[in-house]
Amino acid sequence: MTKLAYLKRSAIQSCEFRGHTMTRFSRVARSHVAHCKGCNKQAWVTEMPLPNDIMISGEAVALNCGVPLYPLSNAELRQEESLE
Ligand SMILES: [Zn+2]
Repeated sequence: MTKLAYLKRSAIQSCEFRGHTMTRFSRVARSHVAHCKGCNKQAWVTEMPLPNDIMISGEAVALNCGVPLYPLSNAELRQEESLE
């Protein structure tokens, strides 16, 4: 197995653990990206990351499926409550 295939498989396993259903990876510049068919969060794989980068990254690796990317602020929460 190549390093890239290993990284992709590791990323997909992490995403599936968090409930995502990922697409295949497509190449973007130096990296490869896949996204969740459900919530559209992304997972990135980079074979040779820059010094301030990491090989596997993305919201789909870090957050569960269905969790909003940017949680509502307190003001937005109050507004939602007043609508009910
Ligand atoms: Zn998802």
